[in-house]
Amino acid sequence: PATSMEELVSLCKRRGFIFQGSEIYGGLQGFYDYGPLGVELKNNIKAAWWRSNVYERDDMEGLDASIIMHRMVLRHSGHEATFSDPMIDNKKNNKRYRLDHLLKDQKADVQAKVAEIMGESADNFAALVAALNAKPAQASAAFKEAGVRDPFSGEVGDWTDPKPFNMMFKTTIGPVADEESYGYLRPETAQGIFTNFKNVVDSTSRRLPFGIAQIGKAFRNEITPRNFIFRVRELEQMEIEFFVVPGTDEEWHEHWLEKRLKWWEDQGVPREKIEILDVPKEDLAHYSKRTYDLMYDYPTLGHEEIEGIANRSDYDLGSHTKAQSELGLVAKVEENADSIAKLTIPHPETNKPVVPFVIEPSAGVDRAMLAVLSEAFTKETLENGNERIVLKLKPHLAPIKVAVIPLARNKEEITSVAKKIKAELQGLGLGRVLYEDSGNIGKAYRRHDEVGTPFCVTVDFDTVGKGEDAALTDTVTVRDRDTLAQERVKISELAGWIQAKLR
Ligand code: ATP
Repeated sequence: PATSMEELVSLCKRRGFIFQGSEIYGGLQGFYDYGPLGVELKNNIKAAWWRSNVYERDDMEGLDASIIMHRMVLRHSGHEATFSDPMIDNKKNNKRYRLDHLLKDQKADVQAKVAEIMGESADNFAALVAALNAKPAQASAAFKEAGVRDPFSGEVGDWTDPKPFNMMFKTTIGPVADEESYGYLRPETAQGIFTNFKNVVDSTSRRLPFGIAQIGKAFRNEITPRNFIFRVRELEQMEIEFFVVPGTDEEWHEHWLEKRLKWWEDQGVPREKIEILDVPKEDLAHYSKRTYDLMYDYPTLGHEEIEGIANRSDYDLGSHTKAQSELGLVAKVEENADSIAKLTIPHPETNKPVVPFVIEPSAGVDRAMLAVLSEAFTKETLENGNERIVLKLKPHLAPIKVAVIPLARNKEEITSVAKKIKAELQGLGLGRVLYEDSGNIGKAYRRHDEVGTPFCVTVDFDTVGKGEDAALTDTVTVRDRDTLAQERVKISELAGWIQAKLR
């Protein structure tokens, strides 16, 4: 695995996985572009998730809802009121920070001092942050007294009182920009699922339990985007809302925890690198009955959230439904006089309308990319003493499945065979097969090691019967990324050989 974030960032840029957004104008913080190989890896991760969660189950439907949503959706979801992070400004240089990030970046003795002044324990970071939010005037005084430094200038800052900053991007809809004509870019994909609950039930005749899965972009105006693609302002999520009979929710929560850990393992992210955080009651989001955060051990960052698996009770459908008071909701919801739909489904035993509970596994695609790349990253010393970097990606995730290399790029007899092989392998539907004639074979091997191509197929003079060994006619050399073994394979058997290996 990678030992630092820098080596990943460097590889991603060098080989075309990820670029800074708007780079030629100096870059835009919190936005990244996925390059030629990044888009393949990302698509492969999403396809693996979709296959496992939609196609391989019999209790799931897919959805692709729109990104811009009616403001009422995000009002009744609770986002307008509560989707905020605490921010704090340094009056000396007008820099703005997320309070908990700022505190985390301080030396241990400064953190301890802040905790002491606030009358909190320095060991319970979440409780300390909550206390700072609850008592803003005391918080700014504590920051000044403890000597909290500005990470940008390195000097002790002159801190304002912390206040909440709502992270939703707002935009104008239509040609007239009046009070009423705004909407939000969704901050999570989940709300599109809840608002389509009735549409999906009515159009598919689903009964409980069943789920709706969605992959798509979400937008969060993070106060301090950082750590490469770990915390960005435009992100992608893979989310499931799994609807269950109230009372069976705890069982299903455990089911999904297990399923998701298994899935990460299948992508090359082993269980022992993921810590399961059973989020303490006082830190739970307002909608949550219980949440497991999967904390992957990122290089440089340490354990950080890669996926959250929440039991959201009947909060969401209860918040978006009309006739709330008739439905015996368990969650505490705000009154809703705007919704025109009753979000119930017949109870499978009694047939009485019920608002289901929801289990939500919610994973970030960008954070998945980072974890998958980090686990695959390998530095090896070869027998000849040379070092090589190789991405030991699971074959189904590899951006390029096979590179077909003609040993001489100006010899028509060789290139035409190579092109034919490329076309045949491409037709197998494995993913991208690359015709690679960029020159030096050693360099090509090195590049394909670094981007994780499982196999390189080389067409040489022997292949076309112009080499020294006539027995090698109509065979090619296949080089294995991981073992470096080179095998001579008959062209007529190549497709089957590759298919068997990639399965
Ligand atoms: P954090 O505490 O790290 O800000 P969160 O608890 O707000 O994350 P959720 O709202 O649970 O995150 O979102 C579900 C998933 O979406 C996360 O587990 C993560 O993988 C991804 N995600 C959330 N915010 C971002 C972001 N700014 N950049 C990249 N991925 C994100």
